Amino acid sequence: MRVVVTGGAGYIGSVVTDQLIADGHEVLVIDNLVKGHLDAVHDSAQFAEIDLIECDNITNALGEFGADAVIHMAAASLVGESVTNPSKYYQENVVAGLSLLDAMRDASVTRIVFSSTAAVYGDPEKQPIEETDATTPTNPYGAAKLAFEHALRWYGQAYGLSSISLRYFNAAGATTRRGERHDPETHLIPLVLDVAAGRRPEILVFGDDYDTPDGTCVRDYIHVEDLARAHTLALQALDAPGVARSYNLGCGGTGYSVRQVLDAAIRVTGTDIPMRVVERRAGDPPVLVASSQRIAQDLGWQPQRQELDEILTTAWQWMQQPAHPSR
Ligand code: UDP
Repeated sequence: MRVVVTGGAGYIGSVVTDQLIADGHEVLVIDNLVKGHLDAVHDSAQFAEIDLIECDNITNALGEFGADAVIHMAAASLVGESVTNPSKYYQENVVAGLSLLDAMRDASVTRIVFSSTAAVYGDPEKQPIEETDATTPTNPYGAAKLAFEHALRWYGQAYGLSSISLRYFNAAGATTRRGERHDPETHLIPLVLDVAAGRRPEILVFGDDYDTPDGTCVRDYIHVEDLARAHTLALQALDAPGVARSYNLGCGGTGYSVRQVLDAAIRVTGTDIPMRVVERRAGDPPVLVASSQRIAQDLGWQPQRQELDEILTTAWQWMQQPAHPSR
């Protein structure tokens, strides 16, 4: 298959691209490189530096490449930032996303896998969260992703677009070649490992007075390779025109609290990790844990790496590589 990966120079996109190429697909990465890294794009992938808002350029790129399908991962993805700067989140995740959909329609590309988020559920009434649960986002990031999911449904009905939205819980870990490197970094696991590596003095824990077992927020961490595998399975499942589906993508179980992540990082790295409890971060729901039964049933997806220690070990090993960019 000829697959376009938007955001393919990013953390998850680069792992998805690697897997697609290993599976024998042809890949065109489209990325504006605002946050992505060109050196994270597989050597065998084609690359185009285009912003999704440039609809005509995207249409041309899709046509020239002969795209069969798109995996749309390019997005702004920080909950906290979305609360203070909703404009950016509606622009990048809705307006630019619609530009991509219009380009797909114009280039007659009818299949899309979309990177959505657990943030579409807001502060859910029950755990684990099922796809049939109410979607009431508590921050602009989740609201914008949900708006795009809705657009996919309407584009499906009107233009025959076939879509699968994958609602990511917390992507984590690394492969031997790719890992997480955002600038600025805001995600818990890379920050904690930075402290362990001596690159930051301490980790700030955003609130320990939540209604959770130890008072800190609970999240469902999923290894980036397991997450990426769901995309290749979803690609195969995209067939009927007009069908829009959504799947949760997490490991399930009971999730891990911020404190449990810190404890695991101390075990894995063998170093002390100074921490300080500060105010809650705006927009953070106390618990987000997935039921991934639907994707297991429909697509046969199963996570291979569910243990937090194992996930952290892969991230730590990647960070320790001599060629790691922060060295
Ligand atoms: N978190 C924290 N300190 C940090 C970064 C994150 O306590 O420096 C918490 C955050 O409040 C959330 C969890 O760690 O409960 C995971 O946050 P992250 O930003 O990694 O992912 P998110 O859940 O926002 O997608």
